[in-house]
Amino acid sequence: MAFYENAKLVRETDKPEQYQRVRKIGEEPGGPGIYRCQSCGFEDVMNRECTKLPPCSNCSKQKGANTWKFLVIATDAA
Ligand SMILES: [Zn+2]
Repeated sequence: MAFYENAKLVRETDKPEQYQRVRKIGEEPGGPGIYRCQSCGFEDVMNRECTKLPPCSNCSKQKGANTWKFLVIATDAA
């Protein structure tokens, strides 16, 4: 669950497929933003320099590889 203070600076997407796509470790991210681990729900941030999605740092090694989905996409729109 992500929180925000100013509702004018966030907007419900009109492109839900970007958020529904399951993204694997090692895959190129869809862009900068907050991603949610599909195994444990942990949220983490990928910046603009990120070229490969990392494993979830909150998942134990016993759980195996996790996948990610976008929770919040960051934009450069003013
Ligand atoms: Zn996790």
